[in-house]
Amino acid sequence: MKIGIVASEAVPYAKTGGLADVAGTLFKVFGKTGNETYLFMPFYKTIKNVENISQAGEILVKIGSQTVKGNILTSKTDYGTAVFIEQGYYFGRDELYGTKEGDYPDNGERFGFFDLAVVEAIKKLNLDLDIIHANDWQTGLIPLFIKDRGIKIGTLFTIHNLGYQGNFEQGLLDLLHIDRKYFTIDGLEFYGDVSFLKSGIVFSDYISTVSPSYAKEIMTPEYGMGMDGILRARKNKLVGILNGIDYEAWNPEKDDLIYAKYSVNNISGKEENKRKLSEELNFETAGKPLFGMVSRLAGQKGVDILTEALEEFLKEDVKVVILGTGEKDLEEKLVSLQNKFPNKIKSLIKFDNALAHKIYAASDFFIMPSKYEPCGLGQLIALKYGSVPVVRATGGLKDTIDNYNDYTHCGNGFSFEEYSSEELLKTLKRAKEIYGDRKTYDMLRQIGMMCDFSWSQSALKYLELFNKIKSEI
Ligand code: ADP
Repeated sequence: MKIGIVASEAVPYAKTGGLADVAGTLFKVFGKTGNETYLFMPFYKTIKNVENISQAGEILVKIGSQTVKGNILTSKTDYGTAVFIEQGYYFGRDELYGTKEGDYPDNGERFGFFDLAVVEAIKKLNLDLDIIHANDWQTGLIPLFIKDRGIKIGTLFTIHNLGYQGNFEQGLLDLLHIDRKYFTIDGLEFYGDVSFLKSGIVFSDYISTVSPSYAKEIMTPEYGMGMDGILRARKNKLVGILNGIDYEAWNPEKDDLIYAKYSVNNISGKEENKRKLSEELNFETAGKPLFGMVSRLAGQKGVDILTEALEEFLKEDVKVVILGTGEKDLEEKLVSLQNKFPNKIKSLIKFDNALAHKIYAASDFFIMPSKYEPCGLGQLIALKYGSVPVVRATGGLKDTIDNYNDYTHCGNGFSFEEYSSEELLKTLKRAKEIYGDRKTYDMLRQIGMMCDFSWSQSALKYLELFNKIKSEI
């Protein structure tokens, strides 16, 4: 098949979050499985050292009364061709989406241009694609442009997080020359705004999201963020395909960023990681259960119930290390907990990939009490690194973590249903108790390390879906 993946970020070129891992890995996997694969993304100023990059043509896009020129740059890789849209004014900036002060105010115009440019580039390069796989709101207008222009390419729109919708004032319609006939409640209108995400949902042939449970949840008012009605209306076209992780990047047997390598068959290095991290952080943890967390500090991640639960939990004989950045008030709460319980918790407020690897490797448990979680990578990484996950059973966390059952001894972690600090606290205490029962804890950890959340299964599901879409158009 000829597949075009479109995303606003993808590893190894540009990354701010999980989307980049998923888009970059799918590019690799689809290519490796014998498909002619293209990856489309903006050429940001931050993208450096792309091998074999060459000019592949020019495109002209009408934005308002102006004609904006863009360059198509291509780079052949072992898996397929990366196609970059270069446009200095829109993408030659320091960041991808915005600064600390907030999103760039013209993001609607920037990604509207990008979506138009991708459609133009496909034509210009005569790619004759079977499928366009568009990801998240930044690519949400592509299915509309494909339909509007009567182009015969199947479209899949994947939602990685419904919380980011790309809603902009309706003036954008004229700027991007979108016919007003599409600006209806059944089209891309969303409470008076133009919604990129809604456009993706409405105009694509199929919609997917990144776990089966999240696919069900987003059709409910509780999780639907205003889009549940339109998602229910298209429920026959909505599927959930779980993300995998790249075990080349996340594997304690090969990880150069951790203090000592280890595996499920030779776990001794894990203890060394705990000892060395304690030294580095000047934080005594020997013999105590160490609970780790690596996360964006956002409402979504359950930091509010966590800080409440920790007020109690830190009175126990436990240690906690949290690495994260994000919302100011949540950062402050974590720092004040550290001030109150300096021997019990380290709150590390920063983004630090190497330290993240060390925390996964050193910790005995990994906390992820998310309010909602489309898929979640943290718990999958934690499993591989032998850090037993303690999670709220929602979205992808529900699909990957089975609560340990005392009677059947089945499970690979601990989970709770109700979103409350009481339930979280109970679950943390239960985990701590199991740590005291060494045989059970070791078994749980071993089961987790043997779980396979690689991409092979999920990639097949995408390819099956692409075939189905192709046969239906
Ligand atoms: P989301 O994409 O919603 O942020 P995921 O669990 O899917 O959550 O992925 C988060 C990824 O980002 C994980 O790989 C995690 O280790 C990493 N990460 C989050 N916060 C930090 C941080 N402060 N420093 C380093 N890595 C981080």
